[in-house]
Amino acid sequence: MKCQLWFSEYHTKNFALSLRVKDVLFTGKSKYQEIQILDTYDFGKVLILDNTFQTTERDEFIYHELISHPALFTHPNPKKVLVIGGGDGGTVREVVKHESVERVDFVELDEMVLELCKKYMPSLSCEMDNEKVNIIIGDGIKYVAECDEKYDVIIVDCPDPVGPAVGLFEKEFYKNVFKCLNDDGIMTQQTESPLYNLDLIKKIYTYLKDAGFSIVKPYVCSIPTYPSGFWCFTLASKKYDPLDVDENKIKEKLKNIPTKYYDEEVHKGVFLSSPKFLKDELKK
Ligand code: SAM
Repeated sequence: MKCQLWFSEYHTKNFALSLRVKDVLFTGKSKYQEIQILDTYDFGKVLILDNTFQTTERDEFIYHELISHPALFTHPNPKKVLVIGGGDGGTVREVVKHESVERVDFVELDEMVLELCKKYMPSLSCEMDNEKVNIIIGDGIKYVAECDEKYDVIIVDCPDPVGPAVGLFEKEFYKNVFKCLNDDGIMTQQTESPLYNLDLIKKIYTYLKDAGFSIVKPYVCSIPTYPSGFWCFTLASKKYDPLDVDENKIKEKLKNIPTKYYDEEVHKGVFLSSPKFLKDELKK
């Protein structure tokens, strides 16, 4: 009899996403979470935290380009960037593609995620040793509460709001992010599934407005391995509107920034194509 190994993430009691596993590269527990790195048949190497898909080699580019570039191309000259979470390194990899970026402070809670991704997922973690990247092992919630630095862009590459990540979706956190941004600063965060987490997206929208951001824009795309396959990011800006960016300037900069998903049309497109049910809810 031939055995097959599958990993399933249960999105609800009655709905699961399963990938067939070629090899179990790592399975263990850190101080914060259960960690698995699996090699799968169709999605390559996959990072799983607490039984939840975090990233896969096959579709990670969609997520990492869309959490990074809309903010970085909206800001005319991003020099100092803060990345919170994102231990796999994919977001940092995208951020350092921008020539203007001089320093990236990268605050990740779990050193074990960093070390494992360095070992098993080098296509994501390849820029962790870049001299512009300053790795800080610590809690991003505490970091922004105590920080007296100012950043041009802050990217919150967090997991779902459970355990140590709960506070990354709270009112106090967004106030502190606002405080840590320059007067023309921009933040982006992954904000879950519009299909499953609409109330959370609405709550985040309100918190960001209350924190003082004049422009708050959720945008969506599809990511096959995240719950519902349909995902939301939220950009909040003190000054620059992503829809005012000159497409030709994006095109020019992209000559030196290799991307697979993001370009000047995607930049405008994501902000213009939010589904009606999401816009209707935010209007309420
Ligand atoms: N793309 C992913 C997703 O949406 O599922 C997020 C990936 S990234 C691996 C999330 C990282 O955030 C994890 O490595 C986790 O350790 C880290 N993290 C969780 N809570 C944190 C906190 N409070 N401060 C900093 N990092 C945190």
